[in-house]
This record gives sequence, structure tokens and C-alpha cells, in this order.
Amino acid sequence: MSIDFKTIRAVILDMDGVLWRGGEVLPRVAEFFAFVQQQGIAFALATNNSTKTIDTYVERLNHIGIPAGPDQVVTSSVATAAYLGQRYPAGTPVYIVGQDGIREELAQRGFVDDAERADVVVVGLDFHITYEKLRTATLCIRRGADFIGTNGDRTFPVPEGLVPGAGSLLAALEAATDITPKVIGKPETAMFDVALERMGAAREFTLMIGDRLETDILGGQRAGLRTALVLTGITTADQARTHDIQADAVFESLADLYAQWEANL
Ligand SMILES: [Mg+2]
Repeated sequence: MSIDFKTIRAVILDMDGVLWRGGEVLPRVAEFFAFVQQQGIAFALATNNSTKTIDTYVERLNHIGIPAGPDQVVTSSVATAAYLGQRYPAGTPVYIVGQDGIREELAQRGFVDDAERADVVVVGLDFHITYEKLRTATLCIRRGADFIGTNGDRTFPVPEGLVPGAGSLLAALEAATDITPKVIGKPETAMFDVALERMGAAREFTLMIGDRLETDILGGQRAGLRTALVLTGITTADQARTHDIQADAVFESLADLYAQWEANL
């Protein structure tokens, strides 16, 4: 094990595949957060999912015994809105392909959904995608609007298998426009930067815990964090052993990580 738990003062956790898997909450999750709080360790939750609002996540987290407030939940929608807020004035017209999560964050920053005048096209996962939406986004981008993606995940898992994610919508628009989007979610560092700033945490003393090598672990490494992979989500033990991307440590589950952390105080 190459994580020195004694040095860790903050943790950033992915949610799906780490805290829960679909509707099933994984073992000892609430106990882990009680431990983290008792140790005075800051925490944040980070997800590439741009469809749900912050309140939706806070409600679910609180419901399963995780005492997280809205500032502790960083979605790709939050990071995308922060990115736009740094580069475009409030009132800038945007065209949004996406759901409540991204719409709410951009509205809060004062961006106006207006396909006719859009200076920026923002694309997240949209379960109600239509040809009409792709057509409008394509025309905006071809007219010169900047092209931003909340996250690049091409697929995500459901009980039946893998289904299209935000990255698949970006690929369709890239094919239609010959423009490559600026993508915000993990493995880019914007979400980690937001989480670190909110926790007031130093990179080298922060641990990223995730289940996906290409997003959670690669992103954590790019952001200068320690990284822990858990095998309760998308990555198998075989993949973890042979993949180009290697976490600092691999654990069977969050419960396993917790047990080893507690034994190394
Ligand atoms: Mg995950």
C-alpha cells in the first residue's frame, strides 16, 4: 500500500460505484463518513453526471447518512458553470443540450438559454435528445458559438449493459461541425480544482477515491492528488492490474479502505 493515510487531510469521492451501485448502498458508507468527520478530514463528492441537481444529490446523501451540504457536492454542471463564469459575462446567451442539473447551474450564474443568439453551446447528457436539438446545436456551433461539453463519458452502465453518455452526444456534434469541444468533467482538472478550493485543501494531502481509472484516477493524478481505486464499480481486479493508469492503491471497497485507514492512524 502506497498511501500514507497519516498525511491525508481531505478526501474527494466519486459516488456511483463507490458509495452506491445503482439503487444499492454499499457497506459501511455512513460509518466511513462518521470516521472522516471525527478525524477532522474535509470531504467532497464529485460526479461527472450533469443531469441531476445539487439538491437531488444532497437529499440522497443525507438519506443514507452522509452529512453533506450543497457546497460539498461538485458535479460536472457546477464545474462547467464555474468555467463559463470565469470566461463570459452574466447574461451571455447560451444554447443548452442537457437536463435540470446543467440548466440550473447556468441559470444561477446568469446565463440565458437563447438558441437564436447563443455565443456558447453547452452539451451534457440529455435523456430527451432529439434530432432538432442536435440540429440547433450544430447550427449555433457552425455560426461560431464556442462548444463546451460537461463531461466526455461515452457510455455509462445500466443493468442491461452500457448505454450512450454525454460523450456520445459530443461525438455526434463533433462529426457534424468538425469542431472539438472543450470538455470540463473528470479526467480534466476543473472539478478537482473546485472541490479543493471549497475544502481549502492542499493537493498533496488530498485523496481521490473512485471506481474508474480513465476519469477518477487519471483526473486525480493530473490534479496532483493521491488516488485510491475501489473495485465496487466499473473496474475489475484484472483491469486494475494491467491498465496503463495505476492508482496509488487499490481496495476491494470503501469498507476495505476504511478498515486499512483506521488500522494506520
Ligand atoms: Mg463512478
